[in-house]
Amino acid sequence: MALYITGHKIPDSDSICSAIAVAHLKNALGIEAVACKQGEINPETAFILEKFGFEAPVTKTIYAGEDTFITDTTDLALCPDDILDANVVGVVDHHKLGDLTTSTPLEAWIRPVGCSNTIVKEMYDFYDVEIPKDIAGIMMCAILSDTVIFKSPTCTKADTKAVKELAAIAGIENPKDLGMEMFKVKSAVEGTPIRDLVMRDFKDFNMSGTKVGIGQLEVVDLAIFDTIKEELLTDIQALKTEGERHSVLLLLTDIMKEGSELLIASDESSKIESAFQKSAEDSKMWLDGVLSRKKQVVPFLEKAFR
Ligand code: MN
Ligand code: MN
Repeated sequence: MALYITGHKIPDSDSICSAIAVAHLKNALGIEAVACKQGEINPETAFILEKFGFEAPVTKTIYAGEDTFITDTTDLALCPDDILDANVVGVVDHHKLGDLTTSTPLEAWIRPVGCSNTIVKEMYDFYDVEIPKDIAGIMMCAILSDTVIFKSPTCTKADTKAVKELAAIAGIENPKDLGMEMFKVKSAVEGTPIRDLVMRDFKDFNMSGTKVGIGQLEVVDLAIFDTIKEELLTDIQALKTEGERHSVLLLLTDIMKEGSELLIASDESSKIESAFQKSAEDSKMWLDGVLSRKKQVVPFLEKAFR
């Protein structure tokens, strides 16, 4: 029986690259493992896989009865729908501890670092397994993505160290330049349907029983949203209604100015305003210095909804 490795729903580069890297490690350790994904890859991930010569993992959404290893989340809302019927043998993650439970003992690799792939690097080191050049390349790119090229407050020394070591293995002389190239790919939003943009990096959260969806778009210049901001606002309003959510928020993150504009669709905007202690103007607010959904947005909202 094969072991299936998957990251979270609406996969990002960390979810995809960690699944590939963990699958390789498990195979090297003699466990037949298959990297999977729960949905289509985004343009940034496509760029990374193409650069290092990988195909996207297989799409798999049903895991009942299967040995499964989860990467980049422990939130039930982001795991496969039938995950509680699967046999979860391991997790690797760098988010707050979620509500996934297991029926058998598992290996849990969870650390407060900037990227799951930083922890996957530690797994390779722990088992003393050599990381192939191309796998080192995608792992390094995932870390650059999750840490916003080291700018995110989630970035730790372990992340910069891992990038340095992975870059040496991959033969990449200047990782930051490759990071900027990735974020330029990410910033190309022209011609993309509005709903695709809203959903590109979207996560639902259960905040004390309240459903809150939060999307994020990271770009090198917020001006690219000037002409579509009203459409984005209209669409998150629609998404809120469709999904019976209390709120849908969209973070438009400017990685150069190092801050985010928050677009708000909410049944109770005052909750959002109290979370950030700021008032919204026309359903928008600027959050200076905010780059990380997980560290600078979710905890404050969870507190406001508690
Ligand atoms: Mn992720
Ligand atoms: Mn991650």
